[in-house]
Amino acid sequence: MLDMLHARELMVDRQVARRGVRDSRVLGAMREVPREVFVPDGLQEFAYEDSPLPIEAGQTISQPYIVAAMLEAAKIRPGDKVLEVGAGSGYAAAVAGRIAGQVYAIERHDALAKLAAGRMRRLGYDNVSLRTGDGTRGWPDAAPFDAIIVSAGGPQVPEALKTQLAIGGRLVAPVGETRNAQRLVRVTRQGEAHFHQDDLGAVTFVPLIGEQGWADENQPVRRPAEPRSFREPSPELSIPRLIAEAAEPLPDFDDSAFGRLFDRFAGARVVLLGEASHGTSEFYRARAAITRHLIEHHGFNIVAVEADWPDAASLDRYVRNRPDPVHAEPPFRRFPFWMWRNTDVEAFIEWLWSWNGARDAEQRVGFYGLDLYNLNASIRAVLDYLDQVDPAAADIARQRYGCLTPWAKEPQAYGRMALNKGYALCEAGVVQTLTDMLDRRLDYVRQDGERFLDATQNARLVKDAEAYYRAMYYGAAESWNLRDTHMFETLCALLDANPGAKAVVWAHNSHVGDASKTEMGLVRDELNIGQLCRERFGAQTALIGMGAHAGTVACTSDWDAPMEVKRINPSRPDSYERLAHDSKVARFLLDLREGVHPVLRQALMRQRLERFIGVIYRPETERWSHYSQCCLPQQFDAYVWFDETRAVTPLPTQQRPGVDDTYPFGL
Ligand code: SAM
Repeated sequence: MLDMLHARELMVDRQVARRGVRDSRVLGAMREVPREVFVPDGLQEFAYEDSPLPIEAGQTISQPYIVAAMLEAAKIRPGDKVLEVGAGSGYAAAVAGRIAGQVYAIERHDALAKLAAGRMRRLGYDNVSLRTGDGTRGWPDAAPFDAIIVSAGGPQVPEALKTQLAIGGRLVAPVGETRNAQRLVRVTRQGEAHFHQDDLGAVTFVPLIGEQGWADENQPVRRPAEPRSFREPSPELSIPRLIAEAAEPLPDFDDSAFGRLFDRFAGARVVLLGEASHGTSEFYRARAAITRHLIEHHGFNIVAVEADWPDAASLDRYVRNRPDPVHAEPPFRRFPFWMWRNTDVEAFIEWLWSWNGARDAEQRVGFYGLDLYNLNASIRAVLDYLDQVDPAAADIARQRYGCLTPWAKEPQAYGRMALNKGYALCEAGVVQTLTDMLDRRLDYVRQDGERFLDATQNARLVKDAEAYYRAMYYGAAESWNLRDTHMFETLCALLDANPGAKAVVWAHNSHVGDASKTEMGLVRDELNIGQLCRERFGAQTALIGMGAHAGTVACTSDWDAPMEVKRINPSRPDSYERLAHDSKVARFLLDLREGVHPVLRQALMRQRLERFIGVIYRPETERWSHYSQCCLPQQFDAYVWFDETRAVTPLPTQQRPGVDDTYPFGL
């Protein structure tokens, strides 16, 4: 269950204050009003997202930041009388009401006005009056107003509203020559007939429909002569053409020419290969083809994937022909098993097995998991190891890990308990176990260096997982960052164990694409492996993203629910995916590095939506569950595109009932 209070605090800090809204009254009011009350049922979990959301009658509740920016621009003070035109859900009126003396709000859809009035009643906000009507005429009986907010975009500022402004009053409204794009203006009434207008920047609002707005159909009431630039093709239209020109078509996966396209990244120390879903066959097959080529021709010798360390270790033992430990059990049997138990991964593992089979032990390529789940298996692996190399240390570790054992089946409950009790019950013990093992490194390595690496990674995983489950209760960013930092440190430990090593990483685009260049880092304070690799390895890092327009995907509707094959919605018109689709090239590689396609790169620089499908896919709420703002050419060095994709084929699996691991991210 999302902590709404915490989400609201984060929204105000990250989406509003950090973007420059300084008015402490506005910030305070936004901390107070429960936005989740103003969104329709089923969308509450997205109430604090950095975007507008759909509400009843086909309208929208404005993005939190824009509400804050408008209220700040209107300089609302305690005691003010405020008018809002376009009350919609009532959210902006409610926030204004926390500052002003009295708010009057008009909404043209009766159903919306009634819903908003009900919300005000339930919340006890009795200084907000609502009525149904055409707000372009204002509310003459209540005029004059100290501030007027217009929450829908008209062709001009309605005259009636200007006349209802008090002298010194401020009116903030989106105004534009078309129904869908406006500039936010502030009109200040400086005298009876004297108005000053400021331009506050470009915005996009739903149209203001009414006597002094747009007509109810598709025609404006008074349309100014269409400006010339309007008949010229929009610059957006040329981006697909630029993509088509720059696109390097992808051959069949089995054609050696496929891998050769990626020779340009051969000099990197780490090549990170993304995916736009956890259940798309093309993404797995492309990663396999690229990885095979990098191994065969460029000396890459580590494949590190977004999977649990102990599970991947079992595949590693298979491909490198190493013995299984005492308690080995079949890997990847827990939800979401299809991520790694599918025919595409199987084919790659078989290839790796045969590649390694023809080589000496020290030349073999390892297969590792970077993720920190499967706490149980890691605890068992550490104890098994110590039982063999140092039974006395095993006894001590057993006692220390005993602290976590009651929680190992449901580690989230440990996090909750730690939060309630206010201290980290098991932290000292898990940290000490790892420290002790590292202190005895020389002794242990002498017996078997490989097994030491495996055991210390498991001990590191237990330590980081303990912190991760506690952080889950502080907020999504904190636990996300612990998880990605753990993955990055695991990768570094693998590379450091062998100075000449070169790694290929398979993980979701959300881990691979530089987070500092997307909404993740800019708004949510999240980092990821891609960003950390760029910081550590600089130009020796290649970040390669993947995307798709439509097709099918293996996924689930809820955590721990059965796997389904769902049809992916065609990509949104305002997304990067749609630009790629409109290029009409079915499969391609796009080199996004600086200097390669400078015109295209520049054209792609403006932030756009990008789709992220994880284990869960909810096409019904796709915009809010799966799209976020990114800057593609800064996020990735290259982009691999498949216009139409199909779901992975899972291997027959007996799923083990277990913990819901990657919750709440689902990626
Ligand atoms: N501030 C609102 C909120 O917080 O939910 C957002 C409202 S939405 C962006 C704009 C609203 O303006 C829609 O609900 C639409 O029906 C309404 N609207 C458009 N033209 C209007 C008019 N002439 N008078 C009143 N409401 C109007």
